[in-house]
Amino acid sequence: MRNRWMKNSFVYLLIIVAIIAIFFTFFPGRGSGTEVSISEVVAMAQSGRLQSIAVDGNSLSVRTKDGQEFSSRKEDGASVLEMLRDAGVDASAVEVEVRGSSGLSNIFGLLFSFLPLIFFGGVLLFMVRQAQGSNNQTMSFGRSRARMFVGNRPSVTFADVAGVDEAKEELQEVVEFLKYPERFLSLGARIPRGVLLVGPPGTGKTLMSRAVAGEAGVPFFSISGSEFVEMFVGVGASRVRDLFDQAKRNAPAIVFVDEIDAVGRHRGAGLGGGHDEREQTLNQILVEMDGFESSVNVIVLAATNRPDILDPALLRPGRFDRRVVLDLPDIAGRLKVLQVHSKGKPIDTDVNMEVVAKETPGFSGADLANLVNEAAILAARRSKKTVTFDEFGEAIDRVIAGPERKSRIVNHREKEITAYHEGGHALVGHLLPHADPVHKVSIVARGQMGGYTRFVPPEDRYLTTRAQFNDMLATALGGRVAEELTFGEITTGASNDLEHATRLARNMVTRFGMSEKLGPRTFGKREELVFLGREISEQRDYGDRVAEEIDQEVHAIIQAAHTAATELLTAHKAKLVQLARHLISHETIEGDALNKLLESEAPPLEAEVEPTPAD
Ligand code: ADP
Ligand code: MG
Ligand code: ZN
Repeated sequence: MRNRWMKNSFVYLLIIVAIIAIFFTFFPGRGSGTEVSISEVVAMAQSGRLQSIAVDGNSLSVRTKDGQEFSSRKEDGASVLEMLRDAGVDASAVEVEVRGSSGLSNIFGLLFSFLPLIFFGGVLLFMVRQAQGSNNQTMSFGRSRARMFVGNRPSVTFADVAGVDEAKEELQEVVEFLKYPERFLSLGARIPRGVLLVGPPGTGKTLMSRAVAGEAGVPFFSISGSEFVEMFVGVGASRVRDLFDQAKRNAPAIVFVDEIDAVGRHRGAGLGGGHDEREQTLNQILVEMDGFESSVNVIVLAATNRPDILDPALLRPGRFDRRVVLDLPDIAGRLKVLQVHSKGKPIDTDVNMEVVAKETPGFSGADLANLVNEAAILAARRSKKTVTFDEFGEAIDRVIAGPERKSRIVNHREKEITAYHEGGHALVGHLLPHADPVHKVSIVARGQMGGYTRFVPPEDRYLTTRAQFNDMLATALGGRVAEELTFGEITTGASNDLEHATRLARNMVTRFGMSEKLGPRTFGKREELVFLGREISEQRDYGDRVAEEIDQEVHAIIQAAHTAATELLTAHKAKLVQLARHLISHETIEGDALNKLLESEAPPLEAEVEPTPAD
């Protein structure tokens, strides 16, 4: 904001100066009176009529003894005094006053000639400021941009974090350290310095650390690891120093380092050699943590979703030796998160949050918060007074697959193909014993997808068996198989499914040891190439012969799933047709209606049932 203001006032100043300069160039202060030639002035001087001559640059203001005023101009470089002397005039008889450089018009004339310089200077200054970002960093270069919440300390408390009771219990201890350090110190206990919050994105790590500060009523200093990785070497380290200085001055306090994996990776893992910015920043964090005296009550919380890549030095006793895991919430946890976020919103009485919680396996706390918000937005757009179950259902689909794209015009042929494709997924999933029950089938385009089938596990699952994997694979291929069987040709619509199936099969072989032929071992070491961002490289720890065997196994597993899906859909062709036709006319079917349709007796196939391929 400040920048914009400075920029604007600078531009205005420039315009004003330009106007004034132009004014003075075209209307120079000539004094008053009629203009006469220089020779007339000299003649006047010779006749002794002149009282004074004021010289201002090349313009002269002449005053006669009888009070008349004239103006005149002289040659550039010529001296009035010399001119008078040459004309035989006694110089002392005429007052000659040289105003020259002190004249107002000259100042502006000067400014005017510097105008281009000023202008380019301004442009340069502006560009430099732009490059440094909106924060006025020119002065505070290298200071931590830690945000402080002193005064209005975080008002978040444990009550705002739902469904992570174990984490809360562990962090309750930290709250007590901050509140009553004497208790622990008097018994000679060492207060822990660092607590690592570990969990997938959106599970409330940031929220939780603010809640700890809120519960303890202490200031909260936060900085994100990715902020450190900036332009100049050494800046990160000085930021860390500054951040900890601030925190120590305000102790008891919490320092929160978000995304610590961005600086805390295994040192030397990058391709950029050992002594890079990250390493210096990390070292500084370690130095600061080691340097705390036991009386200084500052506790460092750090968050990461990649604890496996952290430098072991960070995890040593006295550093981040405590770990609090925040996992994706289970069904009870999801219910609590939903309740926290629907507080204060007009939720209709028909909404059963337990059902919403059941239908959202794998959602993080952030997803659920987003879900409630989406539902409220939908209700507002539909001009409803309360948020009903309809909106929640639609919001779930939105969060998973993106908003509906009803505007996407689909020709009849494509609609038919999509109906059989999605019907194939749904039917195979329904028929296989180890696949999750199918909850909803829709051929309305969403996000990137042409259609979409949603399965809901009967309960949360943490382990997956080989039988479940196999059924998942068959379900994933069900869409393509349905296209093959119905139309005798295949489309590009299944490419996502194939990718998913291939990845699944490969993981079964190389990571979960689920191949009988290759046995219970893993193949390849996954590693993140630090320098290339999120790129994952796989280091081969096996030979070419094994590589070939892996490929064969992956192929065999996928082939078996394809065969299973083909057999099922061939045997239940009538059901597939019934489901697809329903989808073509109704677009979406879910819940009990879907179950009823799947369980019912399918109408017998007519002689010519196959939709005639368009030509
Ligand atoms: P993380 O830091 O783990 O990525 P955040 O703390 O930034 O996740 O969570 C993002 C948002 O998601 C929070 O602001 C909050 O609204 C919501 N959220 C996440 N987890 C929970 C939870 N357990 N209880 C309530 N809200 C949560
Ligand atoms: Mg976060
Ligand atoms: Zn599909």
